[in-house]
Amino acid sequence: MQWTDLKARLLSAGSARITGEPAEQYIARSVAGPGAGGSGVVFFAMGSHRVKFALNPLSAVEIAHRGNGVADLYFEGTLIPGRLLEPGCHCPDQAFITVTGSCRFHCRYCPVPKLGGKRKTIEEIMGMIESVRRRISAISITSGVLETIEEEESYVLEVVKSLQDYDLPIGVSIYPTDQTPDRLKALGVVEVKFNIEAATPTLFAKQCPGLDYTQLWQVLDRSVELFGKNRVFSNVIIGLGETDGEMEACIKRLTSHGIIPVLRPLNPAAELTDAPRPSAERLKKIFGIHERELARTGLDPREALTMCTNCTGCDLVPGRD
Ligand code: SF4
Repeated sequence: MQWTDLKARLLSAGSARITGEPAEQYIARSVAGPGAGGSGVVFFAMGSHRVKFALNPLSAVEIAHRGNGVADLYFEGTLIPGRLLEPGCHCPDQAFITVTGSCRFHCRYCPVPKLGGKRKTIEEIMGMIESVRRRISAISITSGVLETIEEEESYVLEVVKSLQDYDLPIGVSIYPTDQTPDRLKALGVVEVKFNIEAATPTLFAKQCPGLDYTQLWQVLDRSVELFGKNRVFSNVIIGLGETDGEMEACIKRLTSHGIIPVLRPLNPAAELTDAPRPSAERLKKIFGIHERELARTGLDPREALTMCTNCTGCDLVPGRD
């Protein structure tokens, strides 16, 4: 089976169970992204490819750990030899840090507001980076919104200022103000991700009450002016009720604006716990559109230095998968 087919099926399955040797050092406790707040996540790699799973003892996907990270994945009657990756902070190769692990907004699919996590101090963040410094090639920063969007931005800017001595590329994904791209650029941030989340404004309004779709597009456009080609990203969730045609139109709009879409299969959580995961067939179809539109607009996810497009754990990424 080709990797793209396999990964589409594994992403659609979404979880795995670990058997065999103890694997604690390979388990990350996520406070952001798919699997946030659950019983942990693991990254399975086959060659240069990888996929992230939430751990679930009832999963149809089994990863048998043979020791020292060597692992066999069993799925649909196929054995795939590979290895477990040791996470840095949250994901392998990066310190991907959630500054504030709670949020005053209530996007319907997002488990973060219920996690009630706290805001990390700058000392805590630097300690986390120090603990993985020799294993990472980038620092990525994300955050919920503790009080207001403006107050959160200002705290994240303080955090970013304190990270400049590491001499690593820094990527930032927060809910932005109009000034966020300019302020991050002035601090030397190399990549930004501002998430439009849903393929249409109607779906966005339903899923993310209180947030502003039009302003996100304006901020993304300003980001492309400042950060340039292959340096601006936006998450769009697959499976919020959009049609394939609506997803295609959204991908075309993002790429024609110079923005690389990060197409994230819905992880049923929070108010959408009972929603279905997108099928492998749908993920493959949308991957084909994504690949075609990136090529047509001259965008290349392989250039990404930080955040999800560099990590590739949770999505099918053209050029990498
Ligand atoms: S793709 Fe993004 S959300 Fe998923 S593990 Fe990697 S960095 Fe985290």
